[in-house]
Formats: sequence, C-alpha cells, structure tokens
Amino acid sequence: MYDPLTSRYAFACPVRGETHVLLSAFRSIEPLPGAAHPAVFRVRFDCGCGEEHDGLVTHEELDWAPLGLAAGEFLNLMTARLDPVGTELGELAAVHIKRGEWPWSFFCYPEEQPRPVFPSSFTLLTAADGTVGLAVRCPSCRHLSLNLVSQQHVDVPFHNDREVGVVEHVFADDALATLDEFRSELWSASFDARRLALE
Ligand SMILES: [Zn+2]
Ligand SMILES: [Zn+2]
Repeated sequence: MYDPLTSRYAFACPVRGETHVLLSAFRSIEPLPGAAHPAVFRVRFDCGCGEEHDGLVTHEELDWAPLGLAAGEFLNLMTARLDPVGTELGELAAVHIKRGEWPWSFFCYPEEQPRPVFPSSFTLLTAADGTVGLAVRCPSCRHLSLNLVSQQHVDVPFHNDREVGVVEHVFADDALATLDEFRSELWSASFDARRLALE
C-alpha cells in the first residue's frame, strides 16, 4: 500500500515485519504475466534492513496513488476531522497535467526527445548518493533508455529535473535483463546531458 503523506510504499519484510520505502528504493518493476485486471507488478526493493525483497503492487498503487488519486482519508490534526485528502490531491494533479506538467518524465534516447512517463514504465533502478540510475521502457516507441536523475525526480511527482544524464546507446530488446547487467552498464557508461523540458 502507498501512503501519500510519506510518499512511501508499505511492504512485508522478513526481518522487520513491515517496511516503508520510497519509489527510488525500488530496484526492478515487472508486470506479472496473467494478472491483467487489475495489472499487478512484482517489484524488488532495497529494504532498510539491508536486504532486497520482493513485493507486489497494483498498477493503481504504482502510477496513481503517488498523485493522490487513490488516497483515502487522513486525520486533520488542526480541525480533528477526517478530511478526504484524495479529492484535493487529485484535483491538484489534474491542474498540473492540464498545464502540460507531467508527474514523471524521462529522455528517450532512440527518439532523441523527452517523454512523459509513469512508474510502471520504469524497469530497473539503482541509487547512490541521491542520484538514481533509471532504465525506462518508452511507452511510445517501446525502446529502453538509461537516464541518470535526481532522487526527487523519481520520488516527488511533478518534480522534473531540468537536465538528466542519458546513455547514448540504443539497447537491444533483451538487453538489461538483470539488475547486474543494468548496474555494470550504468557504471561503465558515459552520460550526456539532455534538457528535459516537455512542450
Ligand atoms: Zn527487510
Ligand atoms: Zn521512445
């Protein structure tokens, strides 16, 4: 489950019982075959206990919950009332999107242009020192691109880096099949800066 107030996903941890992680702590995201309605994704995430675990998220939790569109209610401490936070956040998201601001974006190298995207198109992630290496399956051309972005770019909807690092390489369809392949590609690659302003 996603908590919109902390921007964290709750998963089971064999050590801690329950753990709460940011999207940037995800390491891989893959759709589960067969589970189409609703679509379910298997994610591997970096847990605070020091291990990586697997968890399941629905398409809605992955792409819509961070925008507040599936949020429930929270206790407003000022008024001591339960406020329907979902409606408000959802309207805010709609205003952003109407202005042409997307909750997430990436630079598609094969198309040589920035594209709006949702987390369900992120396939592999790795993070170090506030920087996230991100493999994205382009929702438009279906090719893989490798971007280097800030942690906020991933964790904070509508926070888009002005410039991202892009690996200037067109990957084969079956490339970057594992986290290890992805990491070695990422650390050996050189990055070129691309502006990420969407029209
Ligand atoms: Zn754990
Ligand atoms: Zn593309």
